[in-house]
Amino acid sequence: MKTFTTIAEVRLFIRNAKFARKRIGFVPTMGALHEGHLSLVRASKNNADITIVSIFVNPTQFGPEEDYETYQRNLERDAELCLEEGVDVIFAPSVIEMYPGDNSVVINETLLSRNLCGRSRKGHFSGVLTVVAKLFNIIQPNIVFFGQKDAQQVRIIQQMICDLNYNIEMNVVPTVRDSDGLALSSRNANLTVGERKWAPTIYKALQKAVELYRAGERNVLVLRESVESILISDNVDIEYIEFVAWNTLEPVVEVDTGTLLAAAIKVGDTRLIDNILFA
Ligand code: AMP
Repeated sequence: MKTFTTIAEVRLFIRNAKFARKRIGFVPTMGALHEGHLSLVRASKNNADITIVSIFVNPTQFGPEEDYETYQRNLERDAELCLEEGVDVIFAPSVIEMYPGDNSVVINETLLSRNLCGRSRKGHFSGVLTVVAKLFNIIQPNIVFFGQKDAQQVRIIQQMICDLNYNIEMNVVPTVRDSDGLALSSRNANLTVGERKWAPTIYKALQKAVELYRAGERNVLVLRESVESILISDNVDIEYIEFVAWNTLEPVVEVDTGTLLAAAIKVGDTRLIDNILFA
């Protein structure tokens, strides 16, 4: 396994891999790797000849009040995990390597980023799309892997691939959860013992909506109310619980196949997100 920190080095590697007609799989991450990330890596190993993992905590997708400074970073351990999984290349650039200038050119999405996380995290998706576009241009992957855990991100990147004509296949990997249902996230490490004990309630609340839906309930007001009643708790701040259409990410009044139920919950100081797609 090779670890590159400069764009020039990784480009040279890619040029040789392309010359050898290798199919390149790419897994963008912000590091602090866990089983969720590793399931993306395994999907890439199964679908590509060469797997490249980027590890870059992207400053432009964090708001001024957010956790950029305190975000978990552990490149050494990440590299061990990648080695065990048979990753071919880690691309771990510095901030200066990725943003040497003023970054006056950015990518903005104007429809799908208005709701859900886009509403409270102003500029977040512009930061995500800009860094993902840069990484796509550097790595030139044939296929990329993203987690359904970040559902809005998946939908917006799908749209960017389509609208900007990237010749890239996208593979969406199901959310990996702990045995108690909590979606794995690098941010789970920030939870106190008490918060960690409560955190699986988020998935339980989403599951309650699925249960009611299976029993025939379709009304969003009723379903939302049941999810909310489970989530209301001390030390917990509900940022949003929304039922939206997968294609548009616009709110629906009736739940149907393809409706996304997404929630963002602040547990103490830690913001957690989760979602389910109704089948
Ligand atoms: P991050 O490092 O949080 O930016 O995540 C990198 C990639 O891993 C994104 O595509 C995430 O959606 C994905 N990911 C994060 N957590 C999970 C999880 N629990 N299950 C599946 N994919 C995940």
